Amino acid sequence: MINRDQEIPLYNATGFKSPARFWHSLLRTDTCSSQGFNPEDLQHARRLLLYRLLLPIMLCASAVVLTEGLLLTPSPILLSVYSGLATLLLAVTTYRFFRHDKVLIPPILALAVTLVTIIWSVKLGSMYQELWVFLLMIGLTALLPLTIAFAGGLITLSALFWAHGWQGFGQGLAFDAAIFSTWVLSLAMMQLQTRQTDELADLALTDPLTGAYNRRYLLPQTRRHFADYHRYARLSSLLLLDIDYFKRINDEMGHVEGDRVLKAIVALIDSRIRGADMLFRLGGEEFVVLLSEVGAQTARKIADDLRSKISAQEVIADRRVTVSIGICDVSIVDSAEDWLLRVDRAMYEAKRKGRDQVYIEEPSPRDPTNVEGTIPMWR
Ligand code: GH3
Ligand code: MG
Ligand code: MG
Repeated sequence: MINRDQEIPLYNATGFKSPARFWHSLLRTDTCSSQGFNPEDLQHARRLLLYRLLLPIMLCASAVVLTEGLLLTPSPILLSVYSGLATLLLAVTTYRFFRHDKVLIPPILALAVTLVTIIWSVKLGSMYQELWVFLLMIGLTALLPLTIAFAGGLITLSALFWAHGWQGFGQGLAFDAAIFSTWVLSLAMMQLQTRQTDELADLALTDPLTGAYNRRYLLPQTRRHFADYHRYARLSSLLLLDIDYFKRINDEMGHVEGDRVLKAIVALIDSRIRGADMLFRLGGEEFVVLLSEVGAQTARKIADDLRSKISAQEVIADRRVTVSIGICDVSIVDSAEDWLLRVDRAMYEAKRKGRDQVYIEEPSPRDPTNVEGTIPMWR
């Protein structure tokens, strides 16, 4: 979540910044969960990405066949059968894509379109000679960065020119070039759009100093976990950490040193929590950890561990930095807002009891139920 050098941010994965990483992240399920994104979000992003990638492939396949077919096939029946098939494949892909979690279906269908194109081109005789242009287009634009794809396009065109000379540099090539540029342009536009959206989302959701999520992202995530508890009985817990006497560190050692302490503590928390957990900077020197599938007792162990690790680490030479931690699990709260309020209360209780400690928020008296024994199983 925090160390951007070592992990692949989801935005990069969807932004095509590095194709090798992109394909790698498509094949692995754990790359992005380690930065705290929910697996469902990740799945959705991947599906969306594949769809964005495959839609132009499908359209391009249809375009190639239609344009070349119109020239070569005298039979309108064959042509309509083929375009009907291409449309059907597109529809089926779209359907499968959004209804099922079968990420392999779209590429298989795209492959099918390509194979059908090849078979047809062989049957039609002369078209197959230029089919490699189409295959090259797919390969270049899907696997390589856009700039290289452009260069590949130029090489392709030069190769065609070399093969056909000025005389053959006619209609067929014009079609290929038109299709190729449409293809690359559509990808470029999609890429630009994706990148801008992702960069904006990145800016909006993370804290620039520490790289943790900011409070803007906290409420939606706590709401989601609150809903998950009531819908699926999935427990989760919040920790609120506040650095003790942080103002003194700032006053005595300066803000730059204070900032360094904040970053060091974030790095330490991040190394201790699991991939599915999320770390937020609430503001100043206060942090929230959202622990998924964790009840209050496990949360206490994690909090104790964090507390002792932080006080044991020499963040500043010859000076102990400690934190007070409040804990509240989802089963005892009335809403996401209530959850945040109560974990804050627990943190203040830890402060009141002398700092450098952990305090668990208990069920309120009007709701004296035991937490883990009364998880609603069906709501
Ligand atoms: P307590 O044990 O009661 O929490 O004492 P405290 O001094 O930590 O509490 P307080 O809330 O009074 O101090 C928080 C300080 O955090 C105040 C502010 O100067 C500092 N702070 C807030 N944001 C930043 C930041 O981004 N960088 C630095 N260096 N300091 C910050
Ligand atoms: Mg504070
Ligand atoms: Mg403090």
